[in-house]
Amino acid sequence: MGIRTGDQYIRGLGSRQPEIWLQGRMVTNVCEEAVFRQPIYEIAKLYDMQHDEKYQDKITHICQETGERVNNAFLVAKTPEELQAKRVLYETYAEATFGLMGRTPDFLNVVLTSLYSNASFLERYNPQWAENAKNYYKYVRDQDLFLTHAIINPQNDRSKSSHEQNDAYTHLGAVEETPEGLIVKGAKMLATLAPITDEVIIYSFPGFQPGDERYALAFAIPIDTPGLRIICREPMQDGIRSVYDHPLASRFEEMDALLVFHDVLVPWDRLFLYNNVEAANLLYPKTGIGQQPAHQTGVRGLLKLQFATEVAMRLADSIGVDVYPNVQNHLGELAQSLESVRALLRTAELDYETLPSGELMPGYVQLETIRGLLPKLYPRAIEVIQIIGAGGFLMSPTDSDMEHPDLTEDMEKFYAGRKGISGTDRVRLFKLAWDLCGEAFGQRLLQYERYYTGDPVRKLAIFYNNYKKSHACTMVDDALSVFATKTASQTKQVL
Ligand SMILES: Cc1cc2nc3c(=O)[nH]c(=O)nc-3n(C[C@H](O)[C@H](O)[C@H](O)COP(=O)(O)OP(=O)(O)OC[C@H]3O[C@@H](n4cnc5c(N)ncnc54)[C@H](O)[C@@H]3O)c2cc1C
Repeated sequence: MGIRTGDQYIRGLGSRQPEIWLQGRMVTNVCEEAVFRQPIYEIAKLYDMQHDEKYQDKITHICQETGERVNNAFLVAKTPEELQAKRVLYETYAEATFGLMGRTPDFLNVVLTSLYSNASFLERYNPQWAENAKNYYKYVRDQDLFLTHAIINPQNDRSKSSHEQNDAYTHLGAVEETPEGLIVKGAKMLATLAPITDEVIIYSFPGFQPGDERYALAFAIPIDTPGLRIICREPMQDGIRSVYDHPLASRFEEMDALLVFHDVLVPWDRLFLYNNVEAANLLYPKTGIGQQPAHQTGVRGLLKLQFATEVAMRLADSIGVDVYPNVQNHLGELAQSLESVRALLRTAELDYETLPSGELMPGYVQLETIRGLLPKLYPRAIEVIQIIGAGGFLMSPTDSDMEHPDLTEDMEKFYAGRKGISGTDRVRLFKLAWDLCGEAFGQRLLQYERYYTGDPVRKLAIFYNNYKKSHACTMVDDALSVFATKTASQTKQVL
């Protein structure tokens, strides 16, 4: 089939009945649910872009194997041009969502592409797992499916491994093998956008201990598989709030969910890894499923940082405070942060590594540096928006106030900004900025940037340990060599 339209994506959602729990009740029709309607529409727009001649050649290509047009997320990049073609896709989707939707379909489709192109890793443990991963990639590519993922155990007792938790099936684990497949039970978090996706893929960060064999799992199943329960967090918008009052929160809310598996059957042909602690610990670092999507998340993060920077700049300009050096310093800092991330992305694409398969992998050091910086740079950008908008955020009237004829004169007089910025202009801009920096929606976006790629604290420690291995600190050896051949008194003479 190849690329889907937005309508086909929506019809796909409507044809299924996953078990979704939202505020204490079961959702019977996800497409009709107010909370999900707008996010579904935003994702559908991305599918439609694949058919729009303005974007089609930028974000899709003809698959050599099938002759069908497919999304660039499924491209196994073997040339720098193909790597750039993937980046253009990430940019196009991130621009369409202002970088605010982290789990657009390209994200997990890149994960899957990397699993496919590095399936030789799985083959070493079990050729069937490799075969399953390759077939699943082709299935998702050709049906143009949208995946969610849950790779973290629920946050119960982090000081204990999976097999040491109070109950054997608090963390998702295998129960029994049947002729049809593996029965699994327990929970996994935190499946962003799960209610409006087609399938879920399960794998894990490294960290399995001996004794955790039953939890060492990787598989993918349809989101409406019997026994799979999706428990949504409290929505951050109700789906009926005014677009005027919440121009971002009303459109880009990404629901997060806990996935609970009640004796769920994973068919054998959907199993990619099982009962092997070593393979489960190496899956993430050895198959590129961490590094390849870091290219997508880096581009998306850059666009989000750019958006926040532009909002801060516009805000300062609208009330005439960007004439002050302190405000200019804040804004200059954001601009430099933004340009640093942009430069890192460029060099990541130039400093690619060529894998034995011929696939190109964007530079690890640059991509991990972006991952390490964004949890600090994005919250800082939000803080700057809060500092610049100050009390102004707390005087924004509502849509209904702005439209009431008795209030029109006051609105235009007291809510106007500097010369040339009307009351309407200023209120709209401040509402947009408040969604980003004050609303629960904005706080989630901030929490997302801190944690979406794992715990930044442990990530940075892993990065440093890898960095140390590849950096022998030879400059220090060179400097110390002055002592090597001289006695203390000779050294004194040389100096
Ligand atoms: C908005 C949002 C969306 C997300 N979307 C997804 C998604 O789509 N799919 C998905 O799978 N996951 C998703 N995640 C989850 C994300 O992967 C986790 O939040 C992240 O891996 C951190 O795990 P945790 O939240 O369980 O924190 P924890 O691991 O419980 O950490 C809590 C705190 O304890 C510290 N800590 C815990 N263990 C250790 C340790 N061993 N050593 C040192 N310090 C430790 C951490 O530094 C942290 O400060 C999302 C998260 C957020 C916030």
